[in-house]
Amino acid sequence: MSDNFLPFSKPTISEEAIAEVTECLRSGWITTGPRVEKLSTLLREYLNSPHAILLTSATAGMHLTLLALNLQPEDEVITASMTFISTPNMIVQAGGKPVFVDINRQTLNMEIADIEKAITPNTRAIIPVHFAGLPMDLDPLYALAKKHGLRVIEDAAHAIGAYYKEKIIGSFGDIQIFSFHPNKNMTTGEGGCITIRDEELATQIRLMAFHGMDRAAWNRYAKTGKQDYEIIAPGFKYNMMDIQAAIGLHQVPHLKEFNEKRRRLAERYVEQLQGWPELELPKMPPYQALHAWHIFTPLLNIEKIGMDRAHFMSLLKEHNIGSGVHYKAAHLYPYYQNNYPVAPGKLINTEYVSERIVSLPLFPTMTFEDQDRVIGAMRTIFNSAT
Ligand SMILES: *Cc1c(COP(=O)(O)O)cnc(C)c1O
Repeated sequence: MSDNFLPFSKPTISEEAIAEVTECLRSGWITTGPRVEKLSTLLREYLNSPHAILLTSATAGMHLTLLALNLQPEDEVITASMTFISTPNMIVQAGGKPVFVDINRQTLNMEIADIEKAITPNTRAIIPVHFAGLPMDLDPLYALAKKHGLRVIEDAAHAIGAYYKEKIIGSFGDIQIFSFHPNKNMTTGEGGCITIRDEELATQIRLMAFHGMDRAAWNRYAKTGKQDYEIIAPGFKYNMMDIQAAIGLHQVPHLKEFNEKRRRLAERYVEQLQGWPELELPKMPPYQALHAWHIFTPLLNIEKIGMDRAHFMSLLKEHNIGSGVHYKAAHLYPYYQNNYPVAPGKLINTEYVSERIVSLPLFPTMTFEDQDRVIGAMRTIFNSAT
């Protein structure tokens, strides 16, 4: 057994990134400024998007985007319950009503037919989650949204560098929101990014991200910038700092390589774990997509192994191996049970997955030896359990 704890996720921070942060700190400009501008340019190029709006988090991006839709009471927003809680939380904060749709047990993504069934005259938007970095089937989704006049906000928190058919996520469609939390495929410490093609909505989001001010602060104080400003809406303060962008500037150039390493490890997990009766492995959909493998999430066959997930995770921890739960279904939390109850049996696959899903270690600097240790520990745990 190893003395070294293997976490389920770990950011890859280069010496160049550390030097850039130091340089930023010494430069005299640490909040939103030239490094944020440069990171935005890098991301616009990488994601082939006319806008890359950098913010403090993806949650902030979801908040601003949903607010910009000006939801009215009774307005509904369709999303998966198998997602991070920030998305339903922001739907509620923006005045909308979350409507949860079930997922496919194998891809862990929503199905178009289920989304279609959930559309009512009150539906305003759909938030697909590209779960684990696997893009949803976007052609039929956008066709459906167009038919019903709905906005689509892609929760791309897991999906930077993922492709749907020939196109990178972020380069087409309505709105995409990426997260740069340390566990994600690239990081800025905390941070998020919106890609968008609707100029009017982009302007509204930018305005509300910084106090409702018509100019960013660094322009105000720059030699050529204007000294005063107008407040035209009661905005928030969601701007990314240059200290954060300094990290991101040295992540984007490595993203492809990070994701390739993740993919190699995920494919190796699939190869090695194929056929284990204790696990159900994630599967690719019939359409063409390049997975970003943000997380590797098999389902535990809890009936077969005779223990619940919490016990399995505690045994892995005894082997010095970390794991995670992504996610407990949103509709099962007390706030949502009390305020947005879901009829029993409506989210049957989501509830099945919620009880069994586990995230195994997966990050770019993880070695095959690390991975063999995870696989060996699981074999030991399963053998002694059954
Ligand atoms: C991480 C995550 C978010 C929130 O991202 P933050 O940057 O932490 O706000 C939203 N949705 C999903 C699916 C996530 O994984």
